[in-house]
Amino acid sequence: MLNIKLLSYMKEDKFLYNWNVLGHENIIKHLQKILKTKNFLNTYLFSGPEDVGKKTIAKYFIQSIFCKDQESIPCNKCGDCLELKNGIHPDLIQVSLLENKRDIGIDQVRDFREKFSLTPMRSQFKVGIINGADRLSQESSNALLKIIEEPPKNSFVILIAQDVDKILPTIKSRSQNIIFGGVKQKEIYDYLLNNGADKNLSFELSKFSGGAPGVAIAYLKNPKEWERRKQDLYDTVEIIDSSINDKFKWVEKLVNKSKSADSYNILSKTLIDFMRIGRDICVLKTDEHAELIHVFLQDKIRDIAHKYKMEQFLEFYNFANKSRNIIYNNINPKLIFENLLII
Ligand SMILES: [Zn+2]
Repeated sequence: MLNIKLLSYMKEDKFLYNWNVLGHENIIKHLQKILKTKNFLNTYLFSGPEDVGKKTIAKYFIQSIFCKDQESIPCNKCGDCLELKNGIHPDLIQVSLLENKRDIGIDQVRDFREKFSLTPMRSQFKVGIINGADRLSQESSNALLKIIEEPPKNSFVILIAQDVDKILPTIKSRSQNIIFGGVKQKEIYDYLLNNGADKNLSFELSKFSGGAPGVAIAYLKNPKEWERRKQDLYDTVEIIDSSINDKFKWVEKLVNKSKSADSYNILSKTLIDFMRIGRDICVLKTDEHAELIHVFLQDKIRDIAHKYKMEQFLEFYNFANKSRNIIYNNINPKLIFENLLII
């Protein structure tokens, strides 16, 4: 009798689900409630900053549908769990932005539509994931809209995006938007400390991640990459306070670098770096003891904060923010960065 009671209690309890995720408690509760009823909507839109946990939670959500285990979900051992891990589960169809491409192309969406419309093979449900739904071309968006409007029976789509403003409004209005906010710095700090980082690295990374655990965890696994990134950021801060000549040379180097690969990504990431540095400078001007995102650059940032006026950096921040949209439309990047750096 006691055993039966215990089992039914466990089935009601959220810890029945074995999801190894930092933060996002309300989203997890919401999704696990959906899993209990299996009453899925046609489309979910997971939106929020890069590496905040959208893909990880989507992975657990889908794994919890497909996993055959009855007690600890997902079990990570059954055939479905292993196929998902290896990216070969026949009932999960995924689309992502291809390397060096600006958009998700129409051919990719057509291929997705073909595979997605087949009846599920292994599971009761078919699930589609569009990684980077904010990078669909106009044509691809229209093709996707047709799938969302009339999805095959027992199927649903998860759209994953950073910038919801770039998603077709008719797609957005047909989706349940699940918004991912940042994870608390203390939670990320504790996780890093419990996973091999010392106090200094845990503090540096948990601050730098800005609430996105994926950023901190990736650098924890690759310390050399973290050292390289810190040097890059040091150079970026230095250029703000250098001569016009050096600034223009730096811009030319950046623009040349961006010609070789995914131009939008390189330029957009550099603008985000400038925005985050600008934010640190403004914060320091308001409160001398404020905690920075870039704790390892605090001497240089303090130095710049003393030299310039608050208005100059508010304008710098706003200009970098606005430029992110302009960059997307291929407007002359050389001109944008030169204008940004004339403070
Ligand atoms: Zn399993």
